[in-house]
Amino acid sequence: MQRKVSAARPPIGRSGAPAPLPFAAPDRRGTAVAWKGMMAQDPKITPTQVKAPHGARVMEIHWADGHRGVLPHEILRGYCPCANCQGHGGTINFVPGGNLDLREIEQVGNYALQFTWGDRHDSGIYTFRYLRSLCQCDECKPQFQPPHSK
Ligand SMILES: [Zn+2]
Ligand SMILES: [Zn+2]
Repeated sequence: MQRKVSAARPPIGRSGAPAPLPFAAPDRRGTAVAWKGMMAQDPKITPTQVKAPHGARVMEIHWADGHRGVLPHEILRGYCPCANCQGHGGTINFVPGGNLDLREIEQVGNYALQFTWGDRHDSGIYTFRYLRSLCQCDECKPQFQPPHSK
């Protein structure tokens, strides 16, 4: 039995002009150190790939447990967790009307992503756990509940 193993190949940048993604896969450099003390290693909140083609309106996140997350920009922006969008209360509300052009994605530590939107709004830090909770794939969408907290 032969199985093709292609996991070593970098998954990003094969087609078109993908958004600049410093974050392509859970990197090997210093994993043990970087993950120390974090919620870590739970495959449900460990992304292996983030796809956000330029001009697209949906981001795809592949998780280490094999789940393919679907995150429409509308949801990402509407649930931006920053204090400007959400105030300082404990609950998260959907805030419609923001710019949905995703300019940049940056990884924050080893636990979150930060997005820069077309209107330069960039103060939202989306933890992997939070991103997972926003998933709108066919499997998650029917059970989707707006998150209670960040
Ligand atoms: Zn915000
Ligand atoms: Zn899902």
